[in-house]
Amino acid sequence: MNNIKLLDNNTINKIAAGEVIERPASVVKELIENSIDAMSSIITIEIEDGGKKYIRVTDNGTGINKDDVDFAFLRHSTSKINRVEDLQSLSTLGFRGEALASIASISQLELITRTKENLSGVHVFINGGEIIKKNEVGCPIGTTIILKNLFYNVPVRQKFLKSDTTEASYISDIIYKLALGNPGLKFKFIKDNKVIINTPGKHDIRSTIYSLLGKEFVNSMFDIAYSGDDIKICGLISSPAFTRGNRNHQYTYVNGRYIKSEEVSDIVESLYKTLIPINRFPVYAIYIDISPELVDVNVHPTKTEVRFDNIDKLRKALSTAVSAVFSSNSLIPEVTIPAVNNDKKLEAQNQETFLDLNNNIEAQVEKPLNAVAIDIDMEDTVDIKRDSDENGIDVNEMIRVLDYSISEPEEMKYDVNTKVKINPPELEIVGTIFDTYIIAEDRVGKDMYMIDQHAAHERIMYEKIKAQLSSNEVYKQQMLSPLVINISHGEMQLIKENMELFKKIGFDIEGFGLNSIVIRSVPMVFGAPDTRSLFLDILDNLGERIGSSYEVRLDKIMKLACTSAIKAGHNIKKIEIHTLLNDLRNTEQPYTCPHGRPIIIKMSKYEIEKRFKRV
Ligand code: ADP
Ligand code: MG
Repeated sequence: MNNIKLLDNNTINKIAAGEVIERPASVVKELIENSIDAMSSIITIEIEDGGKKYIRVTDNGTGINKDDVDFAFLRHSTSKINRVEDLQSLSTLGFRGEALASIASISQLELITRTKENLSGVHVFINGGEIIKKNEVGCPIGTTIILKNLFYNVPVRQKFLKSDTTEASYISDIIYKLALGNPGLKFKFIKDNKVIINTPGKHDIRSTIYSLLGKEFVNSMFDIAYSGDDIKICGLISSPAFTRGNRNHQYTYVNGRYIKSEEVSDIVESLYKTLIPINRFPVYAIYIDISPELVDVNVHPTKTEVRFDNIDKLRKALSTAVSAVFSSNSLIPEVTIPAVNNDKKLEAQNQETFLDLNNNIEAQVEKPLNAVAIDIDMEDTVDIKRDSDENGIDVNEMIRVLDYSISEPEEMKYDVNTKVKINPPELEIVGTIFDTYIIAEDRVGKDMYMIDQHAAHERIMYEKIKAQLSSNEVYKQQMLSPLVINISHGEMQLIKENMELFKKIGFDIEGFGLNSIVIRSVPMVFGAPDTRSLFLDILDNLGERIGSSYEVRLDKIMKLACTSAIKAGHNIKKIEIHTLLNDLRNTEQPYTCPHGRPIIIKMSKYEIEKRFKRV
């Protein structure tokens, strides 16, 4: 008997649906992409019960011709490509011709569609992939697809679905990505009869972000732009003072298509490296226009990955675009103090879910942007609260009262390595408090500044040693009596593997015994730190990061070295403030310490006067 049989079409579609259609959000994505491909300008998405029971997507696009309707539901039927060569110059989102066939095979579907050539439209009913009824109807130009009971005939898949709220949040996530990728289209998302997303569709990225993410994002984001021969970049990126605890709000688009790109986030994050704390991430919407021959989109059926053919070109373009935002305006966080009763409101808001935060979006979008720049949107506080920085300092307490206002970027100079040279304003020193913070005023700008001495010192040290390293002039200090340190066998291996690094920064290590080493010289830049504990600190840290690159390890050593140098410098309290501020002005990056914590914060005279109710 013959055991190997050809599967029937319906079964093939059901299997294929598993690949592309995982959950209601995947359906929504495919349907919206079809609407976009059909040149729509308004797309409305409505769901009930997390999309499990009901999904409707309506557009005002080209519609499907009467005679083509049957074909649309066949596998590998597409109007978008004819030959494999067409993939090279693809500009539509869909091209596999799989989505409608897959979706139809696992749901009860209705399609209502009309083209401008047809006077009437068609209304098709499909159950599990079989067309069961087809009527002529009067309807507007465009397409509506209604989907009921997703996975009704694949109960196993139903079991894998999460709660309605979770499925709905996946859907809104998809809509965020598509809406942000298409600022010229008006997206409306209705969930259980409530409008929760409504974008303006005016081709403006800023107002689209505003309608999706709220004013706090918009207020702390800067425009970026780059224009080269085969790459053009535009978009918005957050100032280093505004970060998130995850990468959820990093949106990358390549030729209009949302993609997940570790390459892009790596490049961008490397530019923020010493500007933001560890485990904080910049927020951005970056639009890359690149000639289609330089990217490969056909990597995965869900089409969220691409391969860049020339990553160096991309890196250069992104670096140029992004580093231009690092002006002093974006780097000094400004303190404003929320009114006391706001705190209660904030607490209450913290309890709300992500989706609910967008409930009153319709009311918000009508307001002009600058009318709402004052109070703080607490969505970010929710996740800031959860994390503290690497030293256990609760950043929440500080960030909670910060509001970052946008000003025009100042004129600035930067070299090809995209280092930005910027200067804090001339300050008059008032004094210090808590032996740690310098208070100073800027009489011209009418601002009060607070400078963290330790952080400032660390930044100065870090740049000193970095400069020495890059000019290969590390000043070493010969130890009067060589230092002997006992270490384990594992540590010995680590030291041997990193010999070159240690040497580079000024440690001369010799005389390897069975389980001890002899240090003959230490880097001079640190004055006279406790060499033994510094060395062991470095060693402990290298252990964790053995897989990392030479650069990363070197950077880590430098940062650790300055930290410990400062701990050991007992006279830090008595340092000459003038010298410190002067040295700080001469650093490349006077606004954050090498670990990304802020060095300077400011508060405006106006803000102070407001507190005293003088204005
Ligand atoms: P693909 O998008 O990969 O071509 P689909 O299965 O998603 O494949 O769609 C099949 C075809 O149905 C499309 O090529 C298009 O011609 C037509 N189609 C689907 N949705 C729409 C829509 N909203 N408006 C107009 N045409 C559509
Ligand atoms: Mg499609």
